[in-house]
Amino acid sequence: MSTLRFHALKKTLANKPVLFEDNSPRSELFAKNVFNENTMQKYLTQDALQGVLNAIKRGKKIERGVADQVAASMRDWALSKGVTHYSHWFQPLTGSTAEKHDAFFELTENGLGIEKFDGSSLVQQEPDASSFPSGGIRNTFEARGYTAWDPTSPAFIYGTTLCIPTIFVAYTGEALDYKTPLLKALHAVDEAATDVCKYFDKNVKKVTSSLGWEQEYFLVDKELIASRPDILLTGRTLLGHSSAKGQQLDDHYFGAIPTRAFNFMKDLEHECILLGIPVKTRHNEVAPNQFELAPIFEEANLAVDHNALVMDIMGRVAKRHNFKVLLHEKPFAGINGSGKHNNWSLSTDTGINLLSPGKTPMSNLQFLTFFINTIKAVKDYEALLRASIASASNDHRLGANEAPPAIMSVFIGEQLSKVLAELEGVTKGKLSPEEKTELKLNVVGKIPDVLLDNTDRNRTSPFAFTGNKFEFRAVGSLANCGNPMTVLNTIVAKQLKDFKVEVDKLIDKKDLKKDEAIFNVLREYIKETKGVLFEGNGYGKAWEDEAEKRGLSNNRTTPEALKAKITDKNIALFEEMGVMSKVETEARYEIEMEAYVTHIQIESIVLGDMARNQIVPTAVKYQNTLIENVQGLKSIFEKDFDKLAKEQIKLIEEISKHIEGINNNVTKMIKAREKANTNQLAQQKALVYCFEVKPFFDKIRSHCDSLELLVDNEIWPLAKYSELLFTR
Ligand code: ADP
Ligand code: MG
Repeated sequence: MSTLRFHALKKTLANKPVLFEDNSPRSELFAKNVFNENTMQKYLTQDALQGVLNAIKRGKKIERGVADQVAASMRDWALSKGVTHYSHWFQPLTGSTAEKHDAFFELTENGLGIEKFDGSSLVQQEPDASSFPSGGIRNTFEARGYTAWDPTSPAFIYGTTLCIPTIFVAYTGEALDYKTPLLKALHAVDEAATDVCKYFDKNVKKVTSSLGWEQEYFLVDKELIASRPDILLTGRTLLGHSSAKGQQLDDHYFGAIPTRAFNFMKDLEHECILLGIPVKTRHNEVAPNQFELAPIFEEANLAVDHNALVMDIMGRVAKRHNFKVLLHEKPFAGINGSGKHNNWSLSTDTGINLLSPGKTPMSNLQFLTFFINTIKAVKDYEALLRASIASASNDHRLGANEAPPAIMSVFIGEQLSKVLAELEGVTKGKLSPEEKTELKLNVVGKIPDVLLDNTDRNRTSPFAFTGNKFEFRAVGSLANCGNPMTVLNTIVAKQLKDFKVEVDKLIDKKDLKKDEAIFNVLREYIKETKGVLFEGNGYGKAWEDEAEKRGLSNNRTTPEALKAKITDKNIALFEEMGVMSKVETEARYEIEMEAYVTHIQIESIVLGDMARNQIVPTAVKYQNTLIENVQGLKSIFEKDFDKLAKEQIKLIEEISKHIEGINNNVTKMIKAREKANTNQLAQQKALVYCFEVKPFFDKIRSHCDSLELLVDNEIWPLAKYSELLFTR
């Protein structure tokens, strides 16, 4: 480590965080800062409480009088906890969370101060929204958007602010955030799934979608990265030679958590618990300084909010611990990147997980119905599902042999594959009584037992069935889960809706019994969806070839993947399911393409600047030292000079070669950028950035990284991989 960096690190280590020592049981602290049903019971009249609960549980509209009451009690509760401000809290399409704080404080007519917060402030706000991405929906002269209260996600206190989860929509009604389409998708899946559930149990009135995310992240020392503009500005390293020790020894995974990281986690988890985020699991991940945090799963809208909140809190808590959290999918080349598994299931208001096999043949038929319909949805909309997780940063991960490939396939395990094979053999049309008995007892009836040993979980699959849920593993660590969850719930909703139509048709037209009709439709689905089922190694080249034969898409880059969003089929899907209008879908596509462009553009500029302003001057400096050395040798040793200076001269030449390589490539990269920027359409621009600008990254990097190995460590301007990854 250079003297400079050593001192930076000493500063960190001297600057000890205040250690967090509240060891009260979590159950006592849980949701203390949340205005949830429990809190409402204490603060609201019975009528008002009922009004809010009707809105939460049955989607009823909240009357103005009730909103006023809720606002007043929220204010009283918040004031009792030292809160001074309130804020509508939302998730614009920038990918981070947004808030604008207003004080409760108001002046009365006679000049006195009061603390005020009424129903209208709770229900709706008009933040100046002109600088949030809108994909052209809001013209700048009418740059008004408004936020509207989402009562299904409870208000919470963070710091001294009361935060109210809201949706964010344009003045003309189009969604400008992640939450609005998600809520619509959850509504669509609720309706479609409830209808299908009625085949099995007439008492089901609501189906809820659940999400359990697992958030991976890196921690790096704050002082050390002060020397790294790439990490500070892009969230990842654009340069850096690999460390002698990386993750080869696999000694980090599930190992003892380093003390500094442990203190950070404890502090973070305490904040989460107060905010009602049921964090449960923490552990080291595969790469050095990589960790994971996972909560108990929750209703999907709440879980998405909680994940967005956690990503935000992580950054703040990290500061206190002199860390920076890296949520980027690939902060370090050659080292595992981070993802965010999205565990997903559907459950009824009668307490049944629809993706969990039951105890009776009929409940297992229900399980199979939802299981097979989900597979069918993924089969029919695999390209859209891939598009839902596309981002410049996630491109580094998908298909990089450490994370699922860019090909969407479903893993179900050997046992369930057998069950599907048996179901596929069922007779078409009416079933004989013997066949029915055989099916119910020996195929469907056996499922709970077979699942018990369904332990061979294939880690290379992007979409795997894991016993009582599907696990969507290709989601990026930096992503807002709202996007993939909107798509997944929408495609399943559409599929269940179509399924219901087909089953009803067989019952009406062919006079089949309900279970016969269900078996018949499922059998056809099994035949149609074989192409998306894959149990083998998803990382291999063989799978890419095989997937191509099966007609599955393999969109390795974001500009290619995003195109799926605006095909006629997918636009029609969102319209039919009431999730997004054509305008909204197209706007989102535009915004994501633009985000891709901006992302690569920033990386390109930062890389060019670092290479020219930091690496080249450092290399020249060291080259001058070598030149001085050679000249000195020449003045002392006339006779043996050639021999003595040979290696130094080689180094001098080598350094020149790399400097040339850097300069040439940076110049070409800038030219490519200029070419890209002449494109008016975001899609074309993105393609040029992807295929003509980005390829220079590796070329420039390789020269810089070679120089890192040649140049005196003492003057190297950037913290090295070994320091960033192994400083604990
Ligand atoms: P891993 O993938 O690390 O092996 P698990 O398979 O144990 O971990 O998954 C744990 C995650 O799955 C947790 O976040 C948990 O909340 C979530 N989970 C468990 N059951 C469900 C369910 N029915 N619906 C959604 N998520 C679930
Ligand atoms: Mg997992």
